[in-house]
Amino acid sequence: MAAQRLYEDDPFGDSFTAHVVALGKEGVVLDRTLFHPQGGGQPGDTGTLVWKDGETTVVDAQESGDDVIHVLGPDTTPPPEGTEVTGRIDMVRRRALMRAHTGEHVLFRAIDKVTKGEAAVSKIALEEDGGKLFVEGHDLDWPVIAQSLLQANDAVLSDIAVHTELLPKEKVLGQHPDARIKVERIKGDVARVVVVDGFDAAACSGTHLRSTGEIGAIAITGRNRTGGSTILSFLTGERARSHLIEATCRVGELSELLSADLERLRPTIENLITEKEALWSRYKSASSHLARLKLEHMEPVEMSGLKLYCEVLPLKREEVIKTVNRLIAGQRTVALLASDDEKPFLAFGSSDDAGVDVSPVLRQACSLLGGGGGGKPTFASGGGKSSEHLDDAMELARSLIEEQASS
Ligand SMILES: [Zn+2]
Repeated sequence: MAAQRLYEDDPFGDSFTAHVVALGKEGVVLDRTLFHPQGGGQPGDTGTLVWKDGETTVVDAQESGDDVIHVLGPDTTPPPEGTEVTGRIDMVRRRALMRAHTGEHVLFRAIDKVTKGEAAVSKIALEEDGGKLFVEGHDLDWPVIAQSLLQANDAVLSDIAVHTELLPKEKVLGQHPDARIKVERIKGDVARVVVVDGFDAAACSGTHLRSTGEIGAIAITGRNRTGGSTILSFLTGERARSHLIEATCRVGELSELLSADLERLRPTIENLITEKEALWSRYKSASSHLARLKLEHMEPVEMSGLKLYCEVLPLKREEVIKTVNRLIAGQRTVALLASDDEKPFLAFGSSDDAGVDVSPVLRQACSLLGGGGGGKPTFASGGGKSSEHLDDAMELARSLIEEQASS
């Protein structure tokens, strides 16, 4: 026999008595319960089961066919089959979930009104006093969000009564033409419709508040877009108020920092981004100019009868390789060049008559940079993860060449 779901008629009921009808690996099945199982975006309830000889925690409630499985905490002993138990719901958490759930109904209906029915909810994910709304069919830009929040919070302030109606599922749209219902998804003939009087109607099996005033406040904390969906993160109750206060202070700080009032904040930041991009492009061109100057004035040092070039230049990889090849075309020459243009890149070469093997030198230098590379005795190249130790790596390479040349 299916478990009697007491929370449907009594969402504010916090304790009940029931009998254990089955025990499984997953948990305890009761003949009646106030524990709302996970479903429709609402997490499963938590609480305790108490009986004559014991007590256990319920850490989750899950749907299993017509039953509700009460998932017990680790290392707890379940009540034996047939035992009468008293179940108690963690009502602080449940009320926070009901604020989130009722808030979601109100928020989505406000979005629906503002977007004139273009936005459709594809999924919801609720948590205590908050959640995510996955919306399709509309980008929900910030002016739309602002209008929706205004309508949603107006509905909260109006403290509209919320009630539940059980209707034959094919009659729901006759009674509530705007109702959100997917008739094909409803098991059985009867639909449970949650009605926010004159504002919203939606088929829903979750638990809800008695009136919109109990939501307290609704805030939106972020908007993300993935694969055609717009995901709105929202908060209700005390968390919504805290967010609004924090956001106000953060904006106030930014406004002071940038000496721009609220209206000027966005254009001021846009100007900063444009300026940063212009400066970056000037920096890149100055740095490539500097690299060309360094290249023109690069002088080798004499080392044990060899000409040694050892430089870090902000060049592209191809230019580094080209320069090494040009330099080692000279006699008794070793060229150790590195680029810190993006990630560090090293190219070492030696003329055929220099009698120096650059390949092991390059490998050691690259390993100091957390990277690797290789090549032949007269040319090798490789890279590293970070330029942090580039000067040390080049100094190591120079001293290894010196050892080879003087032996
Ligand atoms: Zn609902």
